Amino acid sequence: MDDLKKSGIRIGGIVDLSTVDWPSRICSVVFFSGCSFRCPYCQNGKLVDPNYGRWLEVEEVVKLIMRSRPLVEGVVMTGGECTLQPEGLAHLCQRLKEVGLLVGIDTNGSMPNVLDGLLREGLVDRVAIDVKAPLEPKIYEEVVGLPGRGGDVVESVRRSLDLLLKSGVEVEARFLVVPNMTNNADYVREVARKVRGAAKFVIQQFRPEGDLLDPSLKRLRPPTRRELLTLAQVALEEGLSNVYIRTREYGLERVG
Ligand code: SF4
Repeated sequence: MDDLKKSGIRIGGIVDLSTVDWPSRICSVVFFSGCSFRCPYCQNGKLVDPNYGRWLEVEEVVKLIMRSRPLVEGVVMTGGECTLQPEGLAHLCQRLKEVGLLVGIDTNGSMPNVLDGLLREGLVDRVAIDVKAPLEPKIYEEVVGLPGRGGDVVESVRRSLDLLLKSGVEVEARFLVVPNMTNNADYVREVARKVRGAAKFVIQQFRPEGDLLDPSLKRLRPPTRRELLTLAQVALEEGLSNVYIRTREYGLERVG
């Protein structure tokens, strides 16, 4: 293993204390630089650049996180896409486990082999995976901004989902409702069928804020709570029992 890659990660920043990134727990959040997707509605536009931010030794990251001990119970690795830096990510997860912290991963599902390695080593306690659309190449490639690459993307997301749902770790599956793109009951129905077995299925509200990759989407209005509730009903009809919506106004709400 390349020692430099193993010993460090490139990050956009760290949030010391969060109460929203890991429900019912106080955690720190590490924002990894770089992403494999180019979702037009991405609010972390700068973070998709793998050269954004700064490179830090894993031990420096651990030291920064330990400033928030004993308040913090766990750490969420997000981005960007944290699995694009597999060696540094695995090393960091291992060190956090050694100091007694729980580890959560947010992923877009594009790197199933990396997830597999982390799961096999017992380095993660919880994974939140974005399922951005039905697993149909033509639809998925548009929603993640990768024209012509839908086949590979869908195959990766499908493998990641299979691995996670069999793994025994807590899995949260997330679906983002973007007006004129994924605000679609049939999409929710298809995704709900694929995430059966997840601890939570969370239908989330797009917000036209932040560093949007496609700035023209700033004009969109966020979907309302009522619209999300209607979509949640579709997931319930598919037999899911742990369905939630997440809005800016009301946070995370259980629907069924
Ligand atoms: S929204 Fe899309 S582009 Fe942005 S970080 Fe997530 S997967 Fe990457």
